[in-house]
Amino acid sequence: MAGWLDNLFKTLKRTKPLADALPEMLDPGDPRVVIRPFGDDWLCPYTGLRVMAPDWNGSSLTLLQTPEIRDHLLAQPMLQEKSLEAPMKTFEELVSICVFQRIQAGGNYKFAAREGEWVCPYCLTKTETLLRNWDGSEVEFKFYFQQVLKHFAGCPEYQEDPIGGAKVVEEIKEAGGDRAKLWRYLKSDPRFKVIGPDGAWLDPFAARTVAKLNLKREPWGEAIQGKILDYLLSNECPGKYSNFEVEKSLAELQQAAVTKTQSY
Ligand SMILES: [Zn+2]
Repeated sequence: MAGWLDNLFKTLKRTKPLADALPEMLDPGDPRVVIRPFGDDWLCPYTGLRVMAPDWNGSSLTLLQTPEIRDHLLAQPMLQEKSLEAPMKTFEELVSICVFQRIQAGGNYKFAAREGEWVCPYCLTKTETLLRNWDGSEVEFKFYFQQVLKHFAGCPEYQEDPIGGAKVVEEIKEAGGDRAKLWRYLKSDPRFKVIGPDGAWLDPFAARTVAKLNLKREPWGEAIQGKILDYLLSNECPGKYSNFEVEKSLAELQQAAVTKTQSY
């Protein structure tokens, strides 16, 4: 008896009109139902197609009140046939579709630094992936796409929020890739923490102490690190000429800090 009852329920479930089944199919708590690749659209989690929906406010609660979205769903033969049983794509699949479209579209996903290096829109790191050749021509999509995906696979900021975590072009431009890189060095590379006998901080690119940045007057922390960062990115520091790569060893810099007391 349980068997035929079960089948009956299954049939009833399937034959529920699609329009009535939609609220149940698109659970407002499911992150897959609110993906917007470009902010004026909606990524259908069933078909993986981008539906233009500029008037939708992005909330899962108003999703089915948006005519473009509703019309798209109701027009799918696969959904008409299977409704509640229709398979939804996985979050990973939908993220891939969304990110692929964004990279192709360019903008913040295709920002190149001075030498054409791609800057990750999530962690703002300047990578070794080139978007531009030495002659200024563009590198073909197929040559950098895999490298971009490889970076994302190991990028903590991307992993945390692949849909909403990308920064806008202005922020990426401001960081230029260098700020994030230098910030990392300041936090982890001891060559960025060398001081002279008077406490003046040593510029590891110039191998000279900088009088106005004094670690005896101001303790090592985010405040002084912020000032050092501003200095490193300014024209006073020669770091940009070596692409912000320190060429001297820690021992050489420690030596420079005591012998060359020349401050500026
Ligand atoms: Zn990244």
